[in-house]
Amino acid sequence: MSQPDTLTHDVIVVGAGLAGTWAAMIASQQGVKDVAVLSKIHPLRSHSGAAQGGIAAALGNTRPTPNTGAEGPLEPAPEGEPADSLDSHVFDTIKGSDWLGDQDAIEIMIKDAPQVVYEYEHMGCVFSRLPDGRIAQRRFGGHSAPRACYAADWTGHVLLHTVHEQALRHGVKFYSEWYCMDLIVEDNVCRGVVAMNILTGEIHTMRAKAVMFGTGGYGRAYKITSNAYANTGDGVAIAYNAGVPLLDMEFVQFHPTGLYKHGILMSEACRGEGGYLVNSTGERFMERYAKSKMELAPRDLVSRSEQQEINEGRGGEADHDAIYLDLRHLGREKILARLPQVRELAIDFVGTDPIDQLVPIQPTAHYSMGGIPCDVNGQVIADAQGTPVVGFYAAGECACISVHGANRLGTNSLLDASVFGRRAGYAIAEFITGGAKLYPIGGDPADRNRRRVQGFMTNPGKESVEKIAQELKTTMTNNCGVFRDGERLRIALSDIKRLQERFTHARVMDTSSRFNTDVLAALETEHLLDFSEVIVAGALARTECRGAHWRTDHLGRDDKNWLKHTMAHKRSSGPELSFKSVNINYEKYPPQERKY
Ligand SMILES: Cc1cc2nc3c(=O)[nH]c(=O)nc-3n(C[C@H](O)[C@H](O)[C@H](O)COP(=O)(O)OP(=O)(O)OC[C@H]3O[C@@H](n4cnc5c(N)ncnc54)[C@H](O)[C@@H]3O)c2cc1C
Repeated sequence: MSQPDTLTHDVIVVGAGLAGTWAAMIASQQGVKDVAVLSKIHPLRSHSGAAQGGIAAALGNTRPTPNTGAEGPLEPAPEGEPADSLDSHVFDTIKGSDWLGDQDAIEIMIKDAPQVVYEYEHMGCVFSRLPDGRIAQRRFGGHSAPRACYAADWTGHVLLHTVHEQALRHGVKFYSEWYCMDLIVEDNVCRGVVAMNILTGEIHTMRAKAVMFGTGGYGRAYKITSNAYANTGDGVAIAYNAGVPLLDMEFVQFHPTGLYKHGILMSEACRGEGGYLVNSTGERFMERYAKSKMELAPRDLVSRSEQQEINEGRGGEADHDAIYLDLRHLGREKILARLPQVRELAIDFVGTDPIDQLVPIQPTAHYSMGGIPCDVNGQVIADAQGTPVVGFYAAGECACISVHGANRLGTNSLLDASVFGRRAGYAIAEFITGGAKLYPIGGDPADRNRRRVQGFMTNPGKESVEKIAQELKTTMTNNCGVFRDGERLRIALSDIKRLQERFTHARVMDTSSRFNTDVLAALETEHLLDFSEVIVAGALARTECRGAHWRTDHLGRDDKNWLKHTMAHKRSSGPELSFKSVNINYEKYPPQERKY
């Protein structure tokens, strides 16, 4: 029997970033009448809206001027003579992934890319343009052609506003500032979620025939991160706790240009537009690490190079742990036209104006390559054999399909969230219109979660949630960062276990029900502790270097033993790892040494 506090919809999407909004918009457009989207923050504040640099698609609209090399000016490619190809985008992505990306999924994403960009255009998205009216494109790291479509450095903002408008037009219902705290899966069938209305503190069971997670990334497990406060990986932890495995969690991307001490992003577009990286002696040190691509080598390589410069004493600022981004030679006009937001961020947060000053930067935790395993239609899978969790879908940064493998290329994630959010929308519509059922729910999951919240308020312990969160972020940054080794990873793992134990004694001071941010912080911290353990367990197990995962005690990529995905299942003793094979077309894209 349905409880009075139970809400029901055909489809519940958790997350109003690009992935969730695309899925909801398409499902509605395809005839599903009752689609609801939950977001813990206002939908338009989702992190997708903070994306700056661009969205990749091999449109071939611009090409570097001949003979000027990677840094030369761009000019429009003549009509009918595209300066790029799908094959080249596929190969760059596979190489960027250090051959851990599933090649069938990568091919699908890249083939869908031009269509998705044109759909954005037809919905009215305000892209920056070439003089002849075509969408302008710029360079990004690891891409061998200028293929980032952009809107100055506000790309995510304009994309998100465009799809949000359309979702409203198609009648999608938004629950703004509702916090999903549990996923209901019984007998491998997803039946709904439990969510809190943050304004009132009321906790509801929400039943649905299909649930989709587009809950974004988990950069907030680190002290220095480019991610918004909301990026606490809730969806990943909630799925894991509901018995869904997690894939490739050890692969965390560190972006080379976070503002010093803050981590706030200076978009890779700074280097795409021709910016340099220099050490404290003024040397463009990338020449020693990636001679051909220089600053536009992929992020894992550039971040490691920066960290090495710092470790060897060539960093700047008071603690010698900063590198510098040099945009001065781009000139005032270009900076104001193409990079107005990053200029403002540098002025506001570190007090330097990139027009005439060097900007101090450092690597910053940026992107989660791992996540909830699913197929190319967003269908979540329960094991390496691909058994579906019926009615449960995921897309965007919380999902792992896997198109980014061990390292994502810049501009491929707005693409991933859009392409696979859209594909999930079509798959969900087919599932619902094909006669999906509303399954009954055993017990009272809302009540279980009310007791969880009550527990934080009445706990006799004295541990502070904030202190535990800070200690977790410190150990993750110090011991599971750009460079890793067994000894430090074991320290991180034992720190996390200790913090998990301390968390059982955590108490929140605010006991009111309305807008209780103490309770939200407690729930988020519990989630950070849950999935951080999986990141470290995967990193400890993977005794090789691949993409963003670099073990100083196990140098070199080890295809014989580690060309496989790690899959973590929750057990009472901690994560249990199994493995899933990588989908490789050995004739077309056999694994190679990765050089730039
Ligand atoms: C500063 C920055 C710049 C970037 N620039 C680029 C770029 O130029 N190009 C590129 O390709 N990529 C870029 N990225 C990465 C890219 O923006 C993200 O990977 C992508 O936007 C993720 O989209 P998403 O839909 O998966 O999640 P998000 O946009 O992060 O949205 C997550 C949603 O989930 C909701 N949510 C989460 N947990 C809960 C919960 N418990 N209950 C209810 N709701 C919840 C949130 O409210 C939010 O609506 C950038 C990232 C950052 C941080």
